[in-house]
Amino acid sequence: MAILVTGGAGYIGSHTVIELLNQGEEVIVIDNLKTGHKQAVAGGAFYEGNLRDTSFLERVFRENGIEAVIHFAASSLVGESVQQPLPYYENNLMASHNLVSTMLEHNVKKIVFSSTAATYGEPKQIPILEEDSTNPTSPYGETKLAMEKMFRWCDQAYGLKSVSLRYFNAAGAHPDGMIGEDHNPESHLIPIILQVALGQREAIGVFGDDYPTEDGTCIRDYIHVMDLANAHWLALKSLRENGASNVFNLGNGKGFSVKEVIETARNVTGHSIPEKISPRRAGDPALLIASSEKAQTALGWKPKYNDLRTIIETAWNWHKENPDGFLGKK
Ligand code: UDP
Repeated sequence: MAILVTGGAGYIGSHTVIELLNQGEEVIVIDNLKTGHKQAVAGGAFYEGNLRDTSFLERVFRENGIEAVIHFAASSLVGESVQQPLPYYENNLMASHNLVSTMLEHNVKKIVFSSTAATYGEPKQIPILEEDSTNPTSPYGETKLAMEKMFRWCDQAYGLKSVSLRYFNAAGAHPDGMIGEDHNPESHLIPIILQVALGQREAIGVFGDDYPTEDGTCIRDYIHVMDLANAHWLALKSLRENGASNVFNLGNGKGFSVKEVIETARNVTGHSIPEKISPRRAGDPALLIASSEKAQTALGWKPKYNDLRTIIETAWNWHKENPDGFLGKK
């Protein structure tokens, strides 16, 4: 029986495919390649298509014995979602509705879901616990939360078992440098900083320096993409072993400001990396730091790359060797 990975050509999806293959799993990847890269998929069967296309989904489920789904495919930019909410409802909520309908038709009742810290919105306390209130400040967070809730109701009604993994800030690249982060256009902090180091951009724009934090810039909890990948495998195992639906935060439990990330990248790369203060980005909370104790206790998850310098080093290794991302890759 295979594990279906939707969005398996994307950043976190492709790293998870490697983890699953290393664990000896049979993998099937679906990706529409709108933001994903075929070259990032290290193995398994590949289907190009869209989750909103029900006949396509039906074919994938008909042609394969699927045991469980790991669901990454989604639109995932906070700022963009505030400017353009409707595609988020379509690509996230409607697509997941189709996926779950098809799963249930084929009696597939295990799903590991790529959720996000953006489900919390502006937190009331730090570190954030899973039972804290969820008040998303963007359509991205709102649609991810709605999907989590849809899975929960589907558990009650149909016995669909889900593990939702609320990631904080995914960062870094595979330590072998085989794959890494490549968005076009790039909007994430660490890759943009590294593009400045590579001379591809003049400066890093710091989105707001008037937040209520020590240096005025937003604080985030950066977590290595391979640690996230490993958590998906552990979540799948937990569904196989005890079959209980659950929600887990995934972060390192340490916060770094935008300015601290830039400074660490200067040390790692040896480049000066000029910065310029820019306006705040819509939908950004000031401070997001996870408590991942629940995942550590219940799943036995333990982040390996738990310092920012190592995370940035793996990212730098990828960007330096692949300055044009997958485009320039042989
Ligand atoms: N950020 C920034 N300049 C950029 C990109 C991001 O100052 O060019 C900030 C952003 O406001 C946020 C943090 O860096 O506080 C992380 O943003 P990113 O887009 O990497 O991840 P997100 O938090 O949206 O998942």
